[in-house]
Amino acid sequence: MTWQPIDCHAHSIFSDGELTVAEVVERAAELGVTPSLADHISRDVARSITSVEQVEIYLDTLDQFDVLRAGEFCWHDNLWRELPGTLVRRFTHRLGSLHAIQLDDGTLVHAFSRRLPQGLTVQQYMDAHTDTLERFAREMPVDVLAHPTLVTLPFRGIDVDTLWSEEREIRVVDALFDAGIAFEISSRYPPHERLVRRAIDRGVRISLGSDGHTRTQVADVARPLALARALGVADDDLYDPMRHGSKTGFSGRTAA
Ligand SMILES: [Zn+2]
Ligand SMILES: [Zn+2]
Repeated sequence: MTWQPIDCHAHSIFSDGELTVAEVVERAAELGVTPSLADHISRDVARSITSVEQVEIYLDTLDQFDVLRAGEFCWHDNLWRELPGTLVRRFTHRLGSLHAIQLDDGTLVHAFSRRLPQGLTVQQYMDAHTDTLERFAREMPVDVLAHPTLVTLPFRGIDVDTLWSEEREIRVVDALFDAGIAFEISSRYPPHERLVRRAIDRGVRISLGSDGHTRTQVADVARPLALARALGVADDDLYDPMRHGSKTGFSGRTAA
């Protein structure tokens, strides 16, 4: 079989996506992409898988399709810490997300909230973001950091050089490298090229993710793939749980 890009990150109606699992699989086939379901597994996402029992139902369903079985777990929510090993081993790979970062006093700043703690500056926020990312990398046994450059709504759109100093970028790629966590190039939240280049130069693996929720978004990894190729990443080096394995213990495609 010829090489196909893998969309390591797509959502279905199991969380906040619009497509059924069958529709995700069908759409990916149309685009010549290998699909993964990576629905939200967290108690702090509005439409999400929120219990161990629901994770079991989700995995039982995915077993009926020729699809990679992932999940997107919030670092700041404890559900990932509560999953029994028997369930963890059924995932082909797992994604971790910083949907909230933690300030020194313990306050969480959510990525999708419009409210900021009073007086929080963008520089303080980005320092806390970097600190949280380092903690995430030490604590969370995931294969991919989803959308590494996602920041809280009030600070989105601020120019890259204000958000990302060289020191912060180095700390991020060092943390991912040390933990063996891949850097996702997201279709939905595209990272700036300098940071992707820095990750590649450091030896961090690159993963493609549509973070698709709709039919037009799911499995569309054309832009992330083009960027990875432009920066010299060989197709075979892009994260593929079947080729590179997973911290879940998955080591290759098994019969569904
Ligand atoms: Zn996310
Ligand atoms: Zn997502």
